[in-house]
Amino acid sequence: MTAPLTRPSEKRSLELVENLTEIRERVRQAAGSSHASPPALVAVSKYKPAADILVCYDAGQRDFGENYVQELVDKAEALPRDIRWHFIGTLQSNKAKILASIPNIYSVQTVTSAKAASGLNKALHAERAEPLNVLLQVNTSGEDNKSGLVSTGDELAALARHVLAECPRLRLHGLMTIGSLSESLEAGVENRDFAMLVHTRDTLQGVLRAEFGGEKLSAWGDGAGRLLLSMGMSSDFEAALKAGSDIVRVGTGIFGERHKKGEQKGEQTSVP
Ligand SMILES: *Cc1c(COP(=O)(O)O)cnc(C)c1O
Repeated sequence: MTAPLTRPSEKRSLELVENLTEIRERVRQAAGSSHASPPALVAVSKYKPAADILVCYDAGQRDFGENYVQELVDKAEALPRDIRWHFIGTLQSNKAKILASIPNIYSVQTVTSAKAASGLNKALHAERAEPLNVLLQVNTSGEDNKSGLVSTGDELAALARHVLAECPRLRLHGLMTIGSLSESLEAGVENRDFAMLVHTRDTLQGVLRAEFGGEKLSAWGDGAGRLLLSMGMSSDFEAALKAGSDIVRVGTGIFGERHKKGEQKGEQTSVP
């Protein structure tokens, strides 16, 4: 452990707990009874101090998302070990080793290459009890500023096969998308990015089931061969849940606005 964390002001603490409580309630309501298991809420804490995270932790939150490898390393060291960390930033394969060395890294949601997957697999400790969850990032909106694989090509299936066949320390957990903000702002219209990710998952799942049969089903997604979907952020998580999302990633709604400093880099902006 590094230096003890300073607590935020009473006012800030109250605000964080209030925001978190409200977002949880909205997640619960939007998920309705359609979800077999309750969706996961990942609190996206990039740029926010570890002390803010601790307040949410004390309120029972365990899943947190970060976009920058070094920031994640520092926070993981300073904060409780039962936090489940989700990496959601652009993944460079040369950073895979550092990420894999974080003992309580729970998922890497932005895998787009076999090289990165193999790098993670190779760097994970053999004695790690649980496999590391990976999600393949899909660029559903086709925007150039988003990374991710195109949903229509063979690349995605090839990468999924690679994870299943060659990366025993990884669990193919599901698919992740960011989607375009303009999609989300068109009220009343079905969000095409979310519909596209659902369709992509259904197709991929069918292909993998046919190829790998029963033997590997327990190694996927929810443990029964169902790939999970990570989609939905502060501005659109309710629409995402209604479309069938299993994992929503909410930052601003919990922690408030971020300073814009690094938006070009690890943060994959929604607005072109
Ligand atoms: C920053 C970020 C989020 C959270 O965005 P908010 O709009 O603040 O909720 C979610 N997913 C990814 C990939 C991000 O980079």
